[in-house]
Amino acid sequence: MTVITDNHMHLDKKGLYLEAVHQFKRAGGGRIILVQKPGFPQTIEEFVQQVEQTLTMCQEVRQIVECYPVVGLHPAEFDRLFNKGKEDVCYQALDTVELYIQEKKVVGMGEFGRPHYPVSEQTYQASHEYMIQALIRSRELDCPIQLHTESLDSAGIEALDRLIKELGCSRVIKHFAPPIPEYDSMTPSILATESNITQAVTSGMKFFMETDYIDDPRRPGAVLGPKTVPRTTLKLLAEGVLTEDMVVRIHDQDIPSLYNL
Ligand SMILES: [Zn+2]
Repeated sequence: MTVITDNHMHLDKKGLYLEAVHQFKRAGGGRIILVQKPGFPQTIEEFVQQVEQTLTMCQEVRQIVECYPVVGLHPAEFDRLFNKGKEDVCYQALDTVELYIQEKKVVGMGEFGRPHYPVSEQTYQASHEYMIQALIRSRELDCPIQLHTESLDSAGIEALDRLIKELGCSRVIKHFAPPIPEYDSMTPSILATESNITQAVTSGMKFFMETDYIDDPRRPGAVLGPKTVPRTTLKLLAEGVLTEDMVVRIHDQDIPSLYNL
């Protein structure tokens, strides 16, 4: 039985939390890559606390399905800190993440990258440099990293891909990736709508599936719901868009091998 995996989900104790996990499981899901939800820390101590909360949640989720934590400083958090003159906290956060990886308490780094909304040129450059430092760290640690960026067209994906190749990184995942065929040195994680996945299958590329569920009661429907990955997978399998082999590869071979599960 294939363990259907959502490669990018956030959970919040103030949201549906474990109810969302039950929904995921009932729909046929079996494994969650739990990405730290931005908590907008002001100090390194707060960041550490938030990482610890993510790990605690992961333990609780494991009573229901497989769950593996990915932690990092989100680009929106970087933006906030940078513009308060606290860029040093961002770099301390990177050191903190490194410790968690070395202690094998987390399976990956993320989200790191650049804000998805318009920012000043200065903020953009600083976040770009921070992303590069996170990528270098991931290479040195031989650790997967999930990248979050502004929305990118084919040229943007190619430019990012070139950068990753130049840096020599081999375990990069592009979170919220458009289903286009330009990926070479990174694996796209694609929002699991039927049309996106159908397009990704047609182009024959390697990809993961995600919802980017944010578990925010104030923004229901802001992103895909927790049932989406298993639902779309099973529907497209029934329709013959996905084959049994593809489902096994996407969910049960490529994910464990990339994250060393
Ligand atoms: Zn996210």
